[in-house]
Amino acid sequence: EQSVKIVLLGDSGVGKSSLALRFVTNEFRPYSESTIGASFMSKSITVPFSPSVRNDEGQGTSDSKTLESRQHQRTIGLKIWDTAGQEKYRSLAPMYYRGAEAAILVYDITVPASFVALQDWALELQHNASPELMLVICGNKSDLGECRRVDRGVGEAYAREMGAVYVETSAKDGQGVEDMFSGVAMRIPPLLGQE
Ligand code: GDP
Repeated sequence: EQSVKIVLLGDSGVGKSSLALRFVTNEFRPYSESTIGASFMSKSITVPFSPSVRNDEGQGTSDSKTLESRQHQRTIGLKIWDTAGQEKYRSLAPMYYRGAEAAILVYDITVPASFVALQDWALELQHNASPELMLVICGNKSDLGECRRVDRGVGEAYAREMGAVYVETSAKDGQGVEDMFSGVAMRIPPLLGQE
């Protein structure tokens, strides 16, 4: 089984632990304890082969080879590293994002400062992480739409600028969470010879 390392980064309180918990156990805890250092959860999922999704983004699937390859499935073990958002742990982050295939940068759509902090993370990754690292920008707490203070369009535009995938999620009601992680899995190139 192919295994993939995913790291969650972003301010404390944006919902990183909650997203991992929702995805892995389908639970939500309204009063979670903050993560110390980093914690780790894993789950295997089965996704279709879609090797061309990386380059063909937004251009549909007119290619018949792509359609054919979608018939096949592969199982991927997602190893999800949830890092602590506190400043004092920040220097540990490279340990987690180095060697990761994907980084999910999370902000809270009701807290503009968390979106600013996310941009610091994005720049740090741009300068220090592998250019192969897949970037996902995640606006979490979509269930709190009435309190939204960062427009979806602002998040999307920033993601486009960074060459990142944009998603909105709610760890509370589960919206978008499964799709976010399976979207990451689908974009991971298959191991040679696996197809
Ligand atoms: P972390 O510090 O980034 O890991 O954030 P946590 O996962 O600990 O979440 C911080 C707080 O926000 C907790 O009280 C969670 O219950 C709450 N929370 C997390 N995700 C959501 C969400 O999608 N919607 C709402 N309403 N609350 C959330």
